[in-house]
Parts: sequence; C-alpha cells; structure tokens
Amino acid sequence: MSVQALNRNDAAGRFSYPEEIKEDFLKTPGLHFMDGSYVDSAAIWDFMTVEGPRRFPYAYNRERNNQSRLSKDVHFFSGIKYGYLNLTMRDRLIKAHEKGVPIVHVEGGQTVDPYFAAGAIPIVPGPLRAMARDAVEGLDVKDANRRAMKIMEDGRQAISIECCNNPIGSIEAIHQSALPVDMVAPYLCLRCTDYSYILEAYRTKLKNTQLHFIDFPVTRDGAWTVDYVAQLIYDLVKKLGDLRGAVVTEEDLRKEIRRENHGRRLARETMEAIWNAGEIPVTGADIFSIITSGRFDRGDSLACFEFLQQAHAEVIRRAENGVRAAGIPEKPVRLLTVGSCFGFGVNFAEEKGAVLVGTDDHLSKIYADVGEQGNPYEEIAKTILGYDYELPTEQRAQYIVDLVKKTRADGVICGYNWGCNYQSAVSRMIADIVKKQSGVPTINLQVAELGFLDGNEQTQNRVEAFIEMLS
Ligand code: SF4
Repeated sequence: MSVQALNRNDAAGRFSYPEEIKEDFLKTPGLHFMDGSYVDSAAIWDFMTVEGPRRFPYAYNRERNNQSRLSKDVHFFSGIKYGYLNLTMRDRLIKAHEKGVPIVHVEGGQTVDPYFAAGAIPIVPGPLRAMARDAVEGLDVKDANRRAMKIMEDGRQAISIECCNNPIGSIEAIHQSALPVDMVAPYLCLRCTDYSYILEAYRTKLKNTQLHFIDFPVTRDGAWTVDYVAQLIYDLVKKLGDLRGAVVTEEDLRKEIRRENHGRRLARETMEAIWNAGEIPVTGADIFSIITSGRFDRGDSLACFEFLQQAHAEVIRRAENGVRAAGIPEKPVRLLTVGSCFGFGVNFAEEKGAVLVGTDDHLSKIYADVGEQGNPYEEIAKTILGYDYELPTEQRAQYIVDLVKKTRADGVICGYNWGCNYQSAVSRMIADIVKKQSGVPTINLQVAELGFLDGNEQTQNRVEAFIEMLS
C-alpha cells in the first residue's frame, strides 16, 4: 500500500497542505518547548498553511532540485511538525535570546547535552547559515539561493577562499548579526578541518563573541584523555552558566542526558523499523529529519524529543501496515551516504528510483548514548571520545561496513565538500575498504554546493549514473 502526496500546486509550482487532512492532523498532539510553552496542532496547522507559505515560499516550492523543500508526504504528520520546527527556529531563538538564553555556535558533531543542560541553545553551521538567509523573508528558491550565496561569498572574502561553505556561511552570519550568538565553542581535531579559520575569524571578525575550544586528543591513549576532555566540558558549562548568571548542577546535566538518551533511543528504533520494513515507510526528507532530530539540532531538545516520540509511533504503525511513503519507488535502490556535511538531493534520487537510508555521520550520534551514572562530565567526555565517526580511518570504514548490513544498503556514496581537507583525504580509502569488505558498490564524489538550495547538475549526473548501475 502506498500513500499519495496530496499536494495542490499553484501557478508558481508551490504546494499547499490539503484541507482534507486537517481534521485528522488536529487530533494529533502539539509540541512542548523548553521555555514552558506549548504549541497545539491547530497553531502548527495555521502556521504551516498561512504564515509559512507567506514568509518562506521557497520551502513550499516543488521544484525537484529544491533541497530545502518540505516533505512531499503530507500524510506523515510528524513531518509537518518538523517543518514547523524548522521554519520557526529563527523566531524561537531570537525570543529565547531576548529572555537571556545564550546562543552558542558549535562545530565538530559533538553531543549537545552539556549546552542544553546549561540552559543555552547550541547551533551547528547548517541551521545558522539557513537562519541568516531567512532574515529576509518572502523569497522563492532562486532568490533565497542568491541570498545564501551572497552571504557565503562575503564570508569567503572576509575569511578565506580555501575554506568550505559551512564556516564561511556561519561565521559571516554571526558577523552580520543575522542571529545573536554569544559564544563560539567548536571541538578541535574532529572531522572538521576548518577550525583554523574559526580561530582566524575570531581574531579578526568576532572579537566581541566569547570563544571556548574543546580540545580532542586524537590518540585517546589513556585515562588522562577522559579527564582532560571532562575538564574542558566542565569549563564550557561553567562559562554558559555565567552567561545566564546561573549555577549549573550535575543534576541539571543528568536530567538532560536522560532526555537525550531517550531521544537517541527513539531515533535508533525508528530508523531500525524503517530499515527492516518491507516497504520504505517515510521519504528521504523525513528520514533525514528523524536522524538529525536525534542530535537535537532544531534549537530545543524537548520539542525535538516530542517530535521523535510522534515520528516513532507513526513509523511503527506504517511499517506494521506495509505502508510505502508518497513518492518512494517500488523496490528502490537503497543508498547510504558517507562523509560529514555531505548530502545529495533526496527528491531527485527518489524520482530516479532510489532512497536515502542514512548518513554515517549523523547516525554515529544517535548510536552514542551518554552514561547516566557517575560523573556526568566524564560520561560526556567518554561519549565524545568514542564516536564511531571519529575513529581511525580503517575502524571508521568497518563501522560503515556494519551500517551497510544494518541499513540493507545497495550502494554507498562517499562524498566530501570542496575545502574539507580531512574528508577529502580519507574518502577514497573508505570507499575502497567498504567496497572490498561489504561487497556493495561505492563511489567517491567531491561536491561544492553545500548551502545551495538548488542541486548541482554534475553531482546529480553522477548520482543518477550510480543509481542506474545499481538498478
Ligand atoms: S565540510 Fe568538512 S571542513 Fe566543512 S564544516 Fe563540514 S567537516 Fe568541516
């Protein structure tokens, strides 16, 4: 059984949510937020059908290459709620900041438990770039894309032409005050090679923003590494508490760890139900939302947790009833992607007969719980030091071989962004090891469209050829 995308199109190629789903949508729960507020499903419906299309028309544009369009599966109600979390993120962060909540720019893919526990909101580069773009409203795909490119171009000129699109976009967003950011707190020596640019930007551009580096001992060669990272996490939490004028207790940390562990567990179970289902029950866009919510990246860990609860229930129901999501082809080619900050157009892939089943980077986070007993700083440090994604290359490749089995992937796309020196160095080696050990075909792609709304034809041609080969 497959559900259809009940989209209505206007002359500009935009879709709207059909009235016939409204009654059922309104019966579903809303979302609670960390500030104590609650948004019911009626308010979410109003936003997504009236305010959202007016303020963010690009998200409703059905162009196949639009990387930021909302999920086409309008019957997956959790997906509509994720769209709400996405489109309201900038409003929510500005409101929180006005109430004294520190906003922290983070990089490095680390667990966000300590930031939320300290009463702050962590923001990774992708959403930060998007929120800077959304500071101007009413833009369709092309204009939104032009604005995103202009922000990145300004950042490139201000920071470096050798840097990947993420730091130039996010640092420039802070520089232009597109969002109030109180602290920049990246992790060093993890998958990202652009910290040197962040440091340089701090010296020249962001002098008024606090900086806190968390060092990462790549050797992990003794108990001292846990103590060392734990101390840096302690210092970070203390600084965030100071920004709020509050003392953060170990119990605050344990409470947040318990919530996020529960959320990670829900995200894992949901993904495993998707991988094991006879039919793929949700679209690639919704799969991506579930995985990234398992790392609590929409500015509110409570709302992300409730989204995961609702998505989990819907996916299990669909999997039990053999429902195939709207737009998913019969017997699709299952693609696993490898590489940080790398993705391809999921809607394009679905039209060509494939579906995204996961990304090694984000999946490694939802499979990394934090210990709930003992010293919470040490437990967070142990988790950070143990990420599968951050393992030495041969071990990381083994993790991907295991993921191929788990996700039942037919092919693996290893990708890296222009300017990402670490991924470019290891991507080919991983592609070769995974191909040899798992027996599934792999390709190795360099891309340069990180942060663009419309897909790049060269990337699409290569993805399409790979899908054809696997079909
Ligand atoms: S693409 Fe690479 S260098 Fe750029 S932000 Fe991501 S990990 Fe860092």
